[in-house]
Amino acid sequence: MSIDHLRNLLAGAKRAVVFTGAGISTESGIPDFRSPGSGLWTKYKPIYFDDFVNSEDMRRESWRRKFAMEGVLESARPNRGHLAIAQLVRRGLVSHVITQNIDNLHQDSGVPDEQVIELHGNNSYARCLGCHERYEIDPIRVAFLRDETLPVCDQCGGMIKTATISFGQGMPEHEMRRAQEAVLACDLLLVAGSSLVVFPAAGFPAMAKQNGAKLVIVNREPTDLDDMADLVLNAELGPTLGAAVGLN
Ligand code: NAD
Repeated sequence: MSIDHLRNLLAGAKRAVVFTGAGISTESGIPDFRSPGSGLWTKYKPIYFDDFVNSEDMRRESWRRKFAMEGVLESARPNRGHLAIAQLVRRGLVSHVITQNIDNLHQDSGVPDEQVIELHGNNSYARCLGCHERYEIDPIRVAFLRDETLPVCDQCGGMIKTATISFGQGMPEHEMRRAQEAVLACDLLLVAGSSLVVFPAAGFPAMAKQNGAKLVIVNREPTDLDDMADLVLNAELGPTLGAAVGLN
């Protein structure tokens, strides 16, 4: 019944936007942050940007975690939820997928790069914090796993960090602007797998509603913004979105 409601809302949309959090990728085997028990924060305290910049130990710890998690991230494949979203993009119903995830799985599921807006960057490559030169991970891994050598930019001598946004680091201006434009232009915002506690995530639902868009939240657990939504489904994303989109 509720899936029918979701199906009807999607069918009536002309330029929907999907906003995803870590919950869309748990069915691909990547743990989220805040789920009780399995969330990454039960294992690791986040490394703040200032600590990364100011401490060699923290930079080493950050690269250690990156390589410890790599097996999980590299073997992860898009699940039914990602595939359903990609199908909506292909049908022309969804203009953009805004994601907090850094796992590249929306692109891997077939959403064109230019329709994915990554608010927290991407973990599959690195950049110099000084001059923003891009670096691939493979050579960094070889040197780090040999003797924990920290990568240094060969253009400007700056520190190299995965191309992700850490806590305490400024949000990427270009992506933020694109995300806001997409949300303001949408007629339906579908939130999929975010606890909606961190800004800017927490701000998008109100932005969409104030502009007359419908709001749907699909999340295993309730969120503080559920009252604002036209439809809330507390359910698993893969089966729910798969059924709503009619994936085989
Ligand atoms: P979060 O951990 O705060 O919330 C995830 C939500 O998804 C939870 O409320 C949980 O109930 C729900 N959920 C988990 N699995 C689900 C499923 N199969 N079906 C339906 N709901 C499900 O995540 P967040 O709001 O995205 O914030 C975490 C931040 O951590 C992100 O901003 C991201 O940058 C980073 N992160 C990224 C990844 C990734 O790239 N896959 C993974 C972990 C953390």
